[in-house]
Amino acid sequence: MNRVYNFSAGPSVLPLPVLKQAQKELLNYENTGMSVMEMSHRSAAFENIIQTAEALLRELMQIPKNYHVLFLQGGASTQFAAVPLNLFRTSKKADFIHTGSWSKKAISESKKYGEVRIIASSEDKNFSYIPEINSDMIDPKADFVHITTNNTIEGTYFPDVLDTKDVPLVADMSSNILSQPYDIQKFGLIYAGAQKNLGPAGLTIVIVRDDLVGYAMAECPTMLNLQTHVKGKSLYNTPPAYSIYIAKLVLEWLKDFGGIEKMYKQNKQKAAMLYDFIDQSKLFSSPVEKSARSLMNVPFVLPTDELNQQFIQEATANGFVNLKGHRSVGGMRASIYNAMPVEGVQALIQFMQQFENQVQGAK
Ligand SMILES: *Cc1c(COP(=O)(O)O)cnc(C)c1O
Repeated sequence: MNRVYNFSAGPSVLPLPVLKQAQKELLNYENTGMSVMEMSHRSAAFENIIQTAEALLRELMQIPKNYHVLFLQGGASTQFAAVPLNLFRTSKKADFIHTGSWSKKAISESKKYGEVRIIASSEDKNFSYIPEINSDMIDPKADFVHITTNNTIEGTYFPDVLDTKDVPLVADMSSNILSQPYDIQKFGLIYAGAQKNLGPAGLTIVIVRDDLVGYAMAECPTMLNLQTHVKGKSLYNTPPAYSIYIAKLVLEWLKDFGGIEKMYKQNKQKAAMLYDFIDQSKLFSSPVEKSARSLMNVPFVLPTDELNQQFIQEATANGFVNLKGHRSVGGMRASIYNAMPVEGVQALIQFMQQFENQVQGAK
């Protein structure tokens, strides 16, 4: 079996033990005589799956009791609209920190339902850094403040969580959920598409403080109203059952690994190896400011577009795939989520070194 090293930004690599477990259970899940894809979402077997997934997520992320955990559909992109529709309760104003393509989309959805203020932005330098922020910048009357904790496309992230005082902090955590410990109490609402660090596409996680639920705008569709899913325990309608099952396996794998703190150590180690190599290289360079570098998505460039293309081509031929950078940034991007083993990063660095030697030698 020839598995490649998959550096895709999403959907992305899943842990091999998870895929093997799913394969083992594909035809007959725990003596039910059927696959999880074929079973009723009201069955005892599936209830057990979704409850176990929630319990594991709560345990691993240390989610306090006064927060709901919801398993939804529609991706993070649906939450761009669901967040304002649910949280515009009084002033219908929101403060946004604008750090990339995803925050841009979140901003444009919120604008449809209320007043949006951009309190900090890194757009002036193509989102290659994280702007300075502090609590004084926040409108105390805002219904929420929105950040994107990790900017998947640009490869930047917020090393610290902003203290927003009494204004609920909303975080799009799609590309770094489970990658490092967070104090959940600092957030009013966290949302994440599963397909980066948590499981397959089709599943979206929402973690929301209970006092923020129940105030949706009148025009909020039933399916986007968080209260619908709180009341229905994520089973108001048919949930993405198989994606939830795979997410459960990923969470079990993460727990077996030793949890988020240990994973964070490994993530820092993996990222440091790659950035150290890039920084000492005479050929490769990083377009991202050092203090803002993401642990999950590592963009890098070669001196010319021809070399970028040549690198991507040769890397692909050697089993390092999906390294092409996003079209808005160009160059390359290695996404090194939790499921990318240390050996994968080591092998990539070795390949980059080889490529560098070959180019330098040809000069
Ligand atoms: C991938 C991603 C999204 C979009 O997620 P979908 O589930 O495809 O809607 C939004 N925000 C961030 C930070 C992402 O990485």
